[in-house]
Amino acid sequence: MRARVAAAAARAGRAPDAVQLVAVSKTHPAEAVLAALAEGQVLFGENRVQEAATKFPALRPAHPAMRLHIIGGLQTNKARDAVRLADVIEVVDRPRLADAIAEAIQKEGRSPDLLVQVNVGDEPQKSGIPTAEADGFIEACRGRFGASLTGLMCIPPAEGDPGPHFAWLAACAARHGLAVLSMGMSGDFEAAIAQGATHVRVGTAIFGHRG
Ligand SMILES: *Cc1c(COP(=O)(O)O)cnc(C)c1O
Repeated sequence: MRARVAAAAARAGRAPDAVQLVAVSKTHPAEAVLAALAEGQVLFGENRVQEAATKFPALRPAHPAMRLHIIGGLQTNKARDAVRLADVIEVVDRPRLADAIAEAIQKEGRSPDLLVQVNVGDEPQKSGIPTAEADGFIEACRGRFGASLTGLMCIPPAEGDPGPHFAWLAACAARHGLAVLSMGMSGDFEAAIAQGATHVRVGTAIFGHRG
C-alpha cells in the first residue's frame, strides 16, 4: 500500500515521502495493528475513542513511534478521552467541540495536533463545518489553538468526482497557511494525492473489509 501511495505521489510530481499513509484500523483487532507495525506502518486511524482506548495504550510502550489519529465524529463528552489518547484529532468541526477540546487540553496538560474537518459537499448527514463557515471557524481555531492547529480534513460526497472537493480543501488550507491535508480513502486516495493530500486515510485496502 505504501508503494501505491508513493507511486501516486510520483505521478503527481511530488516527492516519494510527500504523502503519509494513515492505516485505518477501526473494527480490526489489535493483532491487525501489530501486524502492520511489524511491517513498518506507524500512523493509525480510529473512528471511535472507546475502541481506540481498548487497543492502543497497551501498544505504546513497545512502539514509541506509533501515532494515533482520531478520524471519526467526536462527541463533546469524549473530547477529554480523545485528548488523552490521540496524537492527532482530525475532526474539529464545531465551536462546542473546540471548547471541549480546549478545556481537555488544559486538564490533561497534553496537546494533540488538530485538524478542522470541513463538510466539503455541505451534506446534511455529514459532520464537518459547512464550507461557508470554514474560514471563520479555522481562524477562530488558530487563535485558540495556535500551532497545534496543523491542517484540514474532509470526506467528499460518495457520488461524483471527488477531485473538485479535494482541490477546494487544498485551496482553503493554502489560504490559511496550513500544511496538513488529510484527504483520500481506499476508493479515492490517488485523486486526493493528485490534489495535494499530505495524509491519506486507508482502511479497507490495507486490512480488508470490515465485518
Ligand atoms: C473508515 C474511514 C476511512 C477509511 O475508509 P476505507 O474506505 O476503508 O479506506 C477513512 N476516513 C474516515 C473518516 C473513515 O471513517
